[in-house]
Amino acid sequence: MNGSQLHETLRNALLDRVGGFFRNTVRHSGETCSVCTGPVFSSDSARCGVCSSHRAEFGDQLADQVLPLTYVCGNRPQGIHQSAHTVVSYKRTPVAEKSVEDLCLMIMTATTIHASCIAVSPGRAWQAVTFVPSANNPGRGHPVARLARQVAFHNDADKRLTLDLGPGIESGQRTVRDDRFAVPEHYRDRVAGKHVLLVDDTWTSGAKAQSAAVTLKEAGASHVTVLCAARWCRYDWENHRSLFDSRTEPYDAYVCPVTGGTCPTN
Ligand SMILES: [Zn+2]
Ligand SMILES: [Zn+2]
Repeated sequence: MNGSQLHETLRNALLDRVGGFFRNTVRHSGETCSVCTGPVFSSDSARCGVCSSHRAEFGDQLADQVLPLTYVCGNRPQGIHQSAHTVVSYKRTPVAEKSVEDLCLMIMTATTIHASCIAVSPGRAWQAVTFVPSANNPGRGHPVARLARQVAFHNDADKRLTLDLGPGIESGQRTVRDDRFAVPEHYRDRVAGKHVLLVDDTWTSGAKAQSAAVTLKEAGASHVTVLCAARWCRYDWENHRSLFDSRTEPYDAYVCPVTGGTCPTN
């Protein structure tokens, strides 16, 4: 199977599995946030309110690029949407295998098809891979660790790392903190000077992923890319609802998560 056949196979597999309920995130200036792809409140702002406040406090210490793959229709008053069911049940114990496999395939496909696109802004491919740890199950046992293992990556035995929980782990869910996580001493050389790919499952406020990004930057990472399977939208909020409802096409893995359209290198 050559490269383009593999891409076509992955795209079709995803269309079958999640096409019916996942929707590609979109990057429209004046409409969606350049960071999290959520709605912006006014057409002259590049970022949503939450991402703007993170930016005001942490500036360049935040992730350099944030790539959520699909919108999720959350908090729907008339009953749970399949997209929300998938990202919620994925974290359940016992594990909802179909949901984990769906998100794994999303991450694997995005990093297979769009690896060179993710490398454009940092000027090089990712050199290390980690994931945003979960407070109650921070290690490799959490399904997010499985997501990170899907990242297409060659000769990777010494390029993966796991973050520790830091003293700030118990702080408010919407606060970015540089002490929520920590880079273990023995992994510091996997981070210093490197473009680190940070994998997460769901972006709500982004505070956890951005906290992990700040921690990696403080440990010397030259560039942090957050690759997140899902961007949670609140269907009971008018601006989130109209964004989700405007997306009618099934999830297409060929849509570039970096540009929201065609790939920058094509
Ligand atoms: Zn945002
Ligand atoms: Zn691309």
